[in-house]
Amino acid sequence: MKNIILLAPPAAGKGTQSKLICSEYGYSHISTGALIRNEISKGNKELLEIVESGSLVRDDIIIELLKQALNNVKGGVVLDGFPRNIAQAIEYDKLLSSLNKKVDHVIYLDLPKEIAKKRITGRVSCPNCGQVYNTLIEGGNSKVEGICDVCQSQLIKRVDDSDEIFENRYATYLKETKPLIEYYDVKGLLRVVDSSKPAEYIFKKIEEIIND
Ligand code: ADP
Repeated sequence: MKNIILLAPPAAGKGTQSKLICSEYGYSHISTGALIRNEISKGNKELLEIVESGSLVRDDIIIELLKQALNNVKGGVVLDGFPRNIAQAIEYDKLLSSLNKKVDHVIYLDLPKEIAKKRITGRVSCPNCGQVYNTLIEGGNSKVEGICDVCQSQLIKRVDDSDEIFENRYATYLKETKPLIEYYDVKGLLRVVDSSKPAEYIFKKIEEIIND
């Protein structure tokens, strides 16, 4: 099994595709956003402020959370939301080489800003099973408004899924994360998937890459 990185602007479907890869191929899913939200739910106000501003959490905090998560996994890993800047990518390369491992594929989920924005502002998700819905996209909502189709939990909206915070998150993405496209392209690891297409299409393309 491989080490896969999903690189994408906000709302390109990293979470959805990670779940599909993991359930189909038995990979472990590590979402640094979810790790941070877990810290926030335990009462970490400092992290809440950073996430609400749309900026990135400090690299050393992220690397520590990532190391702990990696300790608990065997086999292939899908990284969702990490690395988010060049410094994190360099740290990850060092970490993997100390473990005699390497990055196998970096899959860039390409999505125009306007589509990303629409997806974000309508996004609601299930805190229990992680299922994602969208109230602004036709056919994207749950059958009963506000209730998860899969497990009947109450759906929630993420604190950072507002119009205003989206603009900041997107600006952070352009400045910090987008340069990673070149970083991994130069290494010959980058593969691009058009993420304006439906989730099933995106997953098929990802499968082609994984099985290559
Ligand atoms: P999205 O990709 O939809 O913006 P994520 O769940 O990946 O959402 O991340 C939510 C927030 O968590 C980010 O805006 C950022 O503040 C923080 N975060 C997640 N991953 C990282 C990371 N690798 N480095 C720094 N901050 C991160």
